[in-house]
Amino acid sequence: MTPPRVLTVAGSDSGGGAGIQADLKTMSALGVHGMSVIAAVTAQNSLGVQGYWELPPEAVRAQLDSVLGDIGAQAVKTGMLASPALVEVVAEVLGTVTAPVVVDPVGVSKHGDSLLAPEAVETVISRLLPVATVVTPNLYEVEQLTSIKVEDETGMRPAAEALLSLGPTWVLIKGGHLPGPPVDLLTDGTEEYRLTAPRHDNHHTHGTGCTLASAIASHLALGDDIPTAVHNAKTYVTGAIAHGYPLGSGIGPVDHAW
Ligand code: PLP
Repeated sequence: MTPPRVLTVAGSDSGGGAGIQADLKTMSALGVHGMSVIAAVTAQNSLGVQGYWELPPEAVRAQLDSVLGDIGAQAVKTGMLASPALVEVVAEVLGTVTAPVVVDPVGVSKHGDSLLAPEAVETVISRLLPVATVVTPNLYEVEQLTSIKVEDETGMRPAAEALLSLGPTWVLIKGGHLPGPPVDLLTDGTEEYRLTAPRHDNHHTHGTGCTLASAIASHLALGDDIPTAVHNAKTYVTGAIAHGYPLGSGIGPVDHAW
């Protein structure tokens, strides 16, 4: 029987911890058929991103056309899109699909390497957020997109409202960078959920954001509604973080098959 199909549009991580590789591993672990449109290729390991190269916009459009024109997708996830031209093409095509679109507005890696050209932030705001069913920023990305610096849990709600005004249906603000027990806020402006999880004493967390967004898309493809998909994805990523393992001499990846 054909399993549900999930498409990631993102960047490749040569070290296998984040990006497309994390997305496909997550999809495989959750029992959906994963497909990948590659937007950029990074030279990357446990120490950081040593370089990246964008694919030409026509190559990204051709991959999207190939996959969507034949196989189709029950959910789509976007990650590293690197440039204004790539954000533009991806937003244009995804504006025509009926499947839910989970946007991970990837800006900077854990090591501080930029994965999005500064001039692309405007394109993410004007073109990509309006086609997002769920957008999943961390606090740095919230600031990049809204200029709002969230200092504590009470600051998450106004930031979520600012993000909702940019067009996504749901916003999931990941509060993991605040001190104390991590709290995420999920809202569509009417319903509001706070998701908590124990903080694991494990610094091998490379690929956390990619894994969460892919797990949300996978659960949506499996038939969950948005709050249920986010809740289930959060459970999955919390386990993946707990089982993160050392690799190379830097930060190791979360475990997708825990
Ligand atoms: N590399 C790629 C291709 C990514 O898409 C991302 C994040 O989305 C990263 C690296 C950064 O991962 P992390 O911040 O978990 O190290």
